[in-house]
Amino acid sequence: MAKLHLIATGGTIACMPSKNGLVPGLEAKELLGYIPQGEDIVCTDLFNMDSSNIQPEEWQQMALAVLKAREGCDGIVITHGTDTMAYTASMLSFMLRNIDIPVVLTGSQNPIIRPDSDGRINLKNAVTAARSLPGGVYITFGDAVIMGCRAVKTRTTSLNAFESINYPYVGAVANGKFISLGEPRPKGEFSCFVDIDPSVALIKLIPGTSPAFFESVAGCGLHGVVVEAFGLGGVHNFRRDHAESLKKLIQKGIPVILASQCLYEASTPDIYEVSHSLKDAGVISARDMTTEAAVTKLMWVLGHTNDMDRIRDMMNTDYCGEITLQQ
Ligand code: ASP
Repeated sequence: MAKLHLIATGGTIACMPSKNGLVPGLEAKELLGYIPQGEDIVCTDLFNMDSSNIQPEEWQQMALAVLKAREGCDGIVITHGTDTMAYTASMLSFMLRNIDIPVVLTGSQNPIIRPDSDGRINLKNAVTAARSLPGGVYITFGDAVIMGCRAVKTRTTSLNAFESINYPYVGAVANGKFISLGEPRPKGEFSCFVDIDPSVALIKLIPGTSPAFFESVAGCGLHGVVVEAFGLGGVHNFRRDHAESLKKLIQKGIPVILASQCLYEASTPDIYEVSHSLKDAGVISARDMTTEAAVTKLMWVLGHTNDMDRIRDMMNTDYCGEITLQQ
């Protein structure tokens, strides 16, 4: 039987009621008390936080905890709040590139102490998946098993809160059995890199966004920007010229990644005249990456280099399944 390690970080699954609302309180061993297969699993209580408070410092702690636990086990489950779980799963996919054991994040929409909580089945399914999956970072939620760098939280309360975006589901867990739905990705050598640069912003365009707003980014100490543009990657090029303002940022050494406000399918500046000048401005397309993957990848890339050509090359490279290269 595969040896597993549970790293608990908080989230609704671990929540207890308080006079100010739900607050994480249960420890890893207590969580495992709610599932039948919990007995032999080694536990680490890393922290107990609502995931709205999880930030780059916590990602680093999680990656290092995985690195430590990896020495003595065959698979790792991380319990985590759902609100920022997709960011964490994406970041761990980069920080722990080509990890040779499965790292499976899960959580729930209802506290596990409630008899009808989805936390019990989610934790059980995560344990089953961690005993069966090849190396990599994943989210299991409900019966779905999703590649970590392709997961997005798409529902605030429903039990099927996560979807796999622009990538097939890796598998499913049904009746306590893992069903593989795809071929594992070919793997390179494992490497751990946690020295990310978190000075990154995400800006969502609205009709009328001022170019001065983009330009002000340069004065905020930011080292990179992801812009969520319209549809295929459209921006204003009349009255308010975004290509010009984005170009000014790039000339100041701040890379700009162009993503889409649409959840599904890729963005490209190649189709419409409004986007055409973005290419000349030096904007880098996020293609079919999720926003969560684009943001965390940019932090990870900026931790490696501040050379614009290298940033461009790295953002255009597929490291863990986050980007489809043939488009
Ligand atoms: N606020 C909670 C969290 O992200 C929500 C959840 O876990 O479902 O920690």
